[in-house]
Amino acid sequence: MNKNLTQLIAIAQIDKEADALDPVMQDKQSVLDKLLAQKAKQEARLRALDEMQEEARLTIARNEGIIQANSQKIEDIQQRLVEPRSDREARTLSIEEDLSKEQIRHSNNEITRLNKELESRDAQISEINSEIETLKTSIQTTKEICEKEISQIKAQQQEIFKKKEVFIAAIDKKVITFYEKIRRWAKNTSVVPVKKQACGGCFIRLNDKLYSDILQSSEIISCPHCGRILYITQDSALPESQNGTEKMPKPPKTEHSFSFEGGDILSKMGASWFVSYAYYEKVDKTHENWDKISTAKSRINRYEKSKEFHTKWLKEILSMSDANLSKNEIGLDANSVKNMAQALLG
Ligand SMILES: [Zn+2]
Repeated sequence: MNKNLTQLIAIAQIDKEADALDPVMQDKQSVLDKLLAQKAKQEARLRALDEMQEEARLTIARNEGIIQANSQKIEDIQQRLVEPRSDREARTLSIEEDLSKEQIRHSNNEITRLNKELESRDAQISEINSEIETLKTSIQTTKEICEKEISQIKAQQQEIFKKKEVFIAAIDKKVITFYEKIRRWAKNTSVVPVKKQACGGCFIRLNDKLYSDILQSSEIISCPHCGRILYITQDSALPESQNGTEKMPKPPKTEHSFSFEGGDILSKMGASWFVSYAYYEKVDKTHENWDKISTAKSRINRYEKSKEFHTKWLKEILSMSDANLSKNEIGLDANSVKNMAQALLG
């Protein structure tokens, strides 16, 4: 392989390692951010309550003013009522007196109500204040821990970058500039392996000419579809005839037992085979993948004897790993198996 390309693959790997630490730092920071947000929220509540207290105190003062003015008025009325000029005036004055008394009563009620509110809000305020104090303490502690951990991670990143410097020194400058340009948008998928004659970044198939160029050339070659730098791994360098899904060497026959009920029976029968046969039996009589293997007969026997588990198995299969489900000898991929299982569950 081209020396520059080897260095580049190493550099890309180093960048990936360094980038993987970013979310770790973000996680640490987010614990602190959460506490800070909680504190800000409580402080906002506090400000709102303070405003309400201020408003209530002003309203109380206004009501006290009303009471004072009306008391003065009542005093005046009472003096005039000692010698009214007429019955009519006496009546008017007495109505006015009643009105003032009513206003005083109303203002007194308001003051009582507002004082109660002030008291209950004072209790809330002192509660919030103590919460804020607690938060301040946790923030202080968390901040210290967080800063320490983050600086450790940053030091780790620095170490990683030092490794990178060594590779950069050994690589053609143009190549690294080219790589950094791609990295701006492709991030950690800037240098990708070719898989099954397709770009490992955009997954679009490479034509035969380009594919053989990559296999033979010592140049750095980019994917014509997305621009990522391509390289061949030992695996992807296998001739295409050995590299397709269908002609893959048979998977080793490892007996694995599923941990759920009846799992041992299912592992003998094969999860994909089970779905295939059930699909044939219940949904589509023309489906015959299950019949592709010589052991179908003994599997049918197991199938017939395990009906109590079938529904449970189908559900389990929906969450199985695609890689495992695809390891079957009846030519089904995981997606088809899961679709059939879903269809059987209805
Ligand atoms: Zn591509």
